[in-house]
Amino acid sequence: MIVDIAVLERPLPPADLVVVGSGIAGCEVAVRLARRGHRVVLVESGRQDFDPRVQALNDVVHRGKEHRSLDPAAPYHRYLDPGLRGVSRVRRLGGTSSVWTGKWKHLQRSDLDDRPWVPESGWPLDFDTDLLPHYRSAARDYGFGDLEAEARRPAVQEIGERLAQHGLKASSFYWEERPTRTAERFGVDMRTSSDLVVLVGATATEVLVEDDGEDVVATGVRCRSLEGHEALVEGRRVVLAAGALETARLLLASGPARAGGLGNAGDLVGRFYTDHPKHHTGRLHPGPLAARFATELQYGPKPRFCLCFSLDDATQRREELLEHVVYLQPTYERRRDRLRRAWRPPAARDGNGAVRDYRVKFAAEQAPHRASRVQLGQDRDALGQRVLEVDWQLTDHDARSMARTVELLEERLHACGLGTLDFGDDPPSPESTTDAAHQMGTTRMAARAQDGVVDTDCRVFGVEGLYVAGSAVFPTGPSYSPTFTVLALARRLADHLAAVPARR
Ligand SMILES: Cc1cc2nc3c(=O)[nH]c(=O)nc-3n(C[C@H](O)[C@H](O)[C@H](O)COP(=O)(O)OP(=O)(O)OC[C@H]3O[C@@H](n4cnc5c(N)ncnc54)[C@H](O)[C@@H]3O)c2cc1C
Repeated sequence: MIVDIAVLERPLPPADLVVVGSGIAGCEVAVRLARRGHRVVLVESGRQDFDPRVQALNDVVHRGKEHRSLDPAAPYHRYLDPGLRGVSRVRRLGGTSSVWTGKWKHLQRSDLDDRPWVPESGWPLDFDTDLLPHYRSAARDYGFGDLEAEARRPAVQEIGERLAQHGLKASSFYWEERPTRTAERFGVDMRTSSDLVVLVGATATEVLVEDDGEDVVATGVRCRSLEGHEALVEGRRVVLAAGALETARLLLASGPARAGGLGNAGDLVGRFYTDHPKHHTGRLHPGPLAARFATELQYGPKPRFCLCFSLDDATQRREELLEHVVYLQPTYERRRDRLRRAWRPPAARDGNGAVRDYRVKFAAEQAPHRASRVQLGQDRDALGQRVLEVDWQLTDHDARSMARTVELLEERLHACGLGTLDFGDDPPSPESTTDAAHQMGTTRMAARAQDGVVDTDCRVFGVEGLYVAGSAVFPTGPSYSPTFTVLALARRLADHLAAVPARR
């Protein structure tokens, strides 16, 4: 049942679970639990239609490295309705899944490693038991291609072997034909499930807790609307799935003011804020390997698997580098290109035509950095909530890692025959990169309370019954596309909540 806070006549009965946010993370947890008979309330700030006034609740003040200017005229958002162009996260039923592009990529085993040359790296999870089963079940349920089978395909293996000889590696990702939109995917559950109430127009402004002297226990959330409605939504457990910025904001704004927010005893909520610094004006002029495997580098038609490229793990270790990846998108010859090359064959030809060159997107992992953080500022939004200040910071390590990676990629991509990289006079650097709308890290996961905000079950340290779903829990952001891992962790959290009874 979908109910607007504006027409809620009486308080909702206490639920087994309250979930804040109806993006991929929140919907996945809420619907999976409701399908197993748990009574769930899914609280969503937005409504079915996009409303700029609700969207404005996402506004932040930038203090550090600027994010890309959100330009509705930007060419890369032309696939969206004009009203949705240029946003990097969305307040609406379905969240940011309303605009995302549907590129699914999972982490590699080594991405979870504690790398001595990357301080504060390492995920306290085991790839094979904690992530892989959930990647697999998600791929099956959502109907993605099988990324593991794809990695074993002879052409992919042959490319991998050729690259390995030059200290490079390739990994695959999957483009959905139509990106998953959660409001559609879970629409039937939202409208008809007797165990799921979706409360829209309801912005959670505070996580409610009780302190019984021994434990601090989450009991629900306080919700408000721009039209002045208010509701207390109670539940035995609470999952915050509001995205990395808003989840941190809610924690910082809740609990006793003197404690600096909930789960913030170690002053870690909002710290380690990271994104994927992205550079997208490079070109690759195809060499013989690209020509031979051009159909493997094709970007369309979707659905399809694609490849992306990086330095191998041994090089990253030896050179003390972060994981930076290049994505190649073919651009095709036009008439005048054909005339110019006259009788010579094209540099490469794929299933869509003669390839002129490849647009290069360079996506960087950012080093975990305590001072890169979001915190509550002094400005207030339309609900009177303190607006977030976002101080996005990169370090010397990021700068050195990008520069050296570019140098090595240029040499090695040329040597292996993939092609000649050309970044012109503006190569990837902290200054030339923008964000990728992949906010991460603000409630990082750790094995011990002194190192993070949530434990390995995604439960907020020090608060019974309070959990986080989403990329806020990522300790590092090595792979460019975070959402497959957001989905896998959400499914893992749902299984945990179903298996482990609430303590009260
Ligand atoms: C244009 C674009 C393209 C992208 N393409 C890709 C891609 O191809 N591959 C990839 O992996 N990733 C991509 N991403 C990132 C991807 O969209 C996100 O990783 C993913 O959608 C995050 O899902 P989520 O559920 O964690 O958060 P969201 O989808 O942002 O959901 C958060 C929800 O919480 C709600 N909310 C926030 N605060 C409150 C509150 N206080 N009370 C109640 N509700 C609240 C919001 O309204 C929203 O519905 C893209 C992002 C953008 C912007």
